[in-house]
Amino acid sequence: NKKVVLRRHVTGFPSEEDMQIVEDRVGLRVPAGLTAVLMKNLYLSCDPWMRGRMRKHDEVDARPTSASDFVLGEALLNYGVGKVVDSTHPEFKAGDLVWGMSGWEEYSLITQPESLKKINHAELPLSYYTDVLGMPGLTAYAGLMKVGRPKRGDHVFVSAASGAVGQLVGQLAKIAGCYVVGSAGSDEKVSLVKTKFGYDDAFNYKSEPDLGAALKRCLPDGIDIYFDNVGGETLDVALMHMCRGGRVAVCGMISQYNLEEPYGVRNLYCIIPKAIRVEGFNVSGYFDMYASFEEVVAGYIKDGKVSVVEDVVEGIERAPAALVGLFSGKNVGKQLVAIARE
Ligand code: NDP
Repeated sequence: NKKVVLRRHVTGFPSEEDMQIVEDRVGLRVPAGLTAVLMKNLYLSCDPWMRGRMRKHDEVDARPTSASDFVLGEALLNYGVGKVVDSTHPEFKAGDLVWGMSGWEEYSLITQPESLKKINHAELPLSYYTDVLGMPGLTAYAGLMKVGRPKRGDHVFVSAASGAVGQLVGQLAKIAGCYVVGSAGSDEKVSLVKTKFGYDDAFNYKSEPDLGAALKRCLPDGIDIYFDNVGGETLDVALMHMCRGGRVAVCGMISQYNLEEPYGVRNLYCIIPKAIRVEGFNVSGYFDMYASFEEVVAGYIKDGKVSVVEDVVEGIERAPAALVGLFSGKNVGKQLVAIARE
């Protein structure tokens, strides 16, 4: 059973060397006396939030976190897609296709199987349950619909627009009748955002570092909803361009995750005269709407209203590099690792 384990806690940017592939033996049955599911992992998801769990949180580091630290020497944990090999839980049986929290390893013993979800649309690519029909998809849907609350004609700005979350946010905002602009870190991604995901406009924030000028050009009447995936300077400049009554759905701040000294946002005062609602959210608070989300978005995919772009690497050995690549924008679309096909 090959697994990716954390070798040391991380400060600054993560590197492949912070992780290690190790091998151990695993039985293919749930041990006697345990109510659990033994899952063969097919697709591992690479997600930015894993970085937070690579840090060692202690009394000195008071940053709040939504999950506990990874344990050194043990498999990393994240959402994944797999097949049940053996189960002593009444709701699962061998052969079931499932997604949920599992380990970065070939086989995982899931001792809290209630957290797994059955895959209801196996006619779609199973990998979609790491992205558009999985955690990032629900993040995009809940963040836009519940926090952003789009109205027809709203002007929406999305950062990291080609990524797992961003690509769905833009497409859902278009379906809701909004005018949608994205930012991304390469010309290839900007082109994808416009042609594949149907954004009205997009810009490359790396080749056009004057964000204020880019936003003025693409959204001259201002921003009604900013779906923030990156934080930092982009959030700061976007605040200046918000319309009265605008909403900032604060989803993530990937530009800050590896910094020991976070960027200090200066334009927060704008939220008072413009009556802007800035609301952070965590997808974990929205899993009760998963079933309706899954049906709506699976329908959009089948109707050709939502496209999906994935960046798939093959083999568990390549998982550390794939994860590290998220923080320099190497991934084009949702980053995932295929470790078995069935
Ligand atoms: P992506 O698929 O978008 O991949 C990460 C992308 O972030 C990179 O490709 C890169 O795109 C961009 N990026 C990396 N470093 C920087 C930087 N320093 N400044 C600006 N952009 C950077 O990831 P996800 O869609 O999975 O996640 C997007 C955001 O949503 C993250 O902040 C994540 O933490 C957050 N999130 C929050 C959840 C919640 O519950 N609130 C749940 C899931 C995700 P580019 O080349 O365009 O710069």
